[in-house]
Amino acid sequence: MSSTTLIDNAPIAPDLTDAKVHLVGMGRDDIATELERIGIPPKKVRMRTKQVFHWIYNYGVTSFDQMTNIAKPLREKLEAAFTLDRPEIVERLISVDGTRKYLIRMAPGIEVESVFIPDVSKTGALCVSSQVGCTLTCTFCHTGTQRLVRNLTAREIVLQVIIARDDLGEWPTTQENRRLTNIVFMGMGEPLYNTEKVGDALDTICDPEGLGIGRRRITVSTSGVVPDIVPMGARTKAQLAISLHAANDELRSQIMPINKKYPLKELMQACRDYPGLSNSRRITFEYVMLKGINDQPWHAKQLIKLLRGIPAKVNLIPFNPWPGTDYVCSDAETIKSFSDMVNAAGYASPIRKTRGQDIFAACGQLKSDSEKKRASTLRKETKASQK
Ligand code: SAH
Ligand code: SF4
Repeated sequence: MSSTTLIDNAPIAPDLTDAKVHLVGMGRDDIATELERIGIPPKKVRMRTKQVFHWIYNYGVTSFDQMTNIAKPLREKLEAAFTLDRPEIVERLISVDGTRKYLIRMAPGIEVESVFIPDVSKTGALCVSSQVGCTLTCTFCHTGTQRLVRNLTAREIVLQVIIARDDLGEWPTTQENRRLTNIVFMGMGEPLYNTEKVGDALDTICDPEGLGIGRRRITVSTSGVVPDIVPMGARTKAQLAISLHAANDELRSQIMPINKKYPLKELMQACRDYPGLSNSRRITFEYVMLKGINDQPWHAKQLIKLLRGIPAKVNLIPFNPWPGTDYVCSDAETIKSFSDMVNAAGYASPIRKTRGQDIFAACGQLKSDSEKKRASTLRKETKASQK
C-alpha cells in the first residue's frame, strides 16, 4: 500500500490510473488542447471547449451521454479518449455541527484533505489544500511536522471543489441557495509556494461559466511569503489573510521560522501594497491563541500598533491541540479580553468558533490521523516480519 509518510523525496506520481485523460479539473486551455489532440477541427475547438467546459463545471455531469447538445458520434469519440471520473474519496466525515471533511486520493500516495464549513447565514466555506504537507515548520501547526510531499496541480485544487459540490448536491452551479459560497486556502500547505497553480485553479473556480465563485469570495492565507504577496493579489484578485500569530519579530521568528527570512516590517509593507486594499476589502490577520505565549495584554497592544493604518480585521483562532504538542489553548477569558482590546482599537476581532471537533477537522488533523494509523500498521507489520 502506498502512503504519504512512507515516501522519501516522492516523485510526482502519475495521476492517471487508466489510459483515458481526466478532463474534470482542467482549465479551458488544457481542455482545448485535448480536444485538438483528438482531432476536433481547429475552427470548432473554441466552441466545443465552451460546451464541454460548461457541462463539466455548470452541470457537473459525470458521463458524456449527458452532453445533449453534442452529437452522439462526437460524444462517443470523447468517451473513448477521456473520462469524467472523480478521484477516490478515501474518507468522508460529517460532524454534528455540519462540518464535512474529505480525504481525497489524487494519485497513489497523494492524499489531500479539504473541509466544508457551513455558516449559520446559509453560506459556507470550503477550506482547500494547496500542497501535500508543507516545507515550513510553524511550531504550533501539525501540518508543519509533516514534510512536503509535493505541490498540488491546478486540477487537484479544482477537484477539491468538485468533490464538495458533488457531495453537497449543488449542481448546477447556477442554482440558487448554494451553500458552498466561499473558498479559503487554509488547508494543508503554503499557497504562496504554489502561486502559479493556485492562480490557474482560481481561473476555473471563479469562471462564471465554470464553478462560478466570485473572486471576492476567495481568501488566500499565507504565513508571509513576502515577495509573492502583491503578485498573488494582482494575479488572483483574491482576499488576503496573513497568519500573523505574533506582533514582534523575536516571538514570531520563534513560532514561525519564515519570519527570519521575511520579518514583520517587510510583511506589513507588502500588506500595505496589496492590490485593491480598502476599508471594504480589508486584510484578515489570523492570530492563534497560545496560552502564555502570545495572549497577554501587552501582546494585544503590540498588535494594535503594528496594524495601524492598515484596513484590517483580526481573526482570533483558539489553538487546536494535536498529539505531541507542548502548546495549550489560551483560556476563554484571556481570549475574550484580548478580543475586547483589539475591538476597542477599532479592529473587528471575532473569535473563531472551533468547528468539526468530533471529526478532527482542524488544520492537518485528518491527514495526520491517517498517517499515524499507517505508521502503526507498518510497525506491526515490521514486528511481525521480524518474528
Ligand atoms: N500555510 C498557510 C495556510 C494554511 S494554515 C498559512 O500558514 O497561512 C491555515 C491557518 O491555520 C493558519 O492561520 C495557521 O496558522 C492556522 N493553524 C495551524 N495550526 C493550527 C492549530 N493547531 N490551531 C489553530 N490554528 C492553526
Ligand atoms: Fe505550513 Fe501554514 Fe502550517 Fe505554517 S501554519 S506549517 S505555513 S501550513
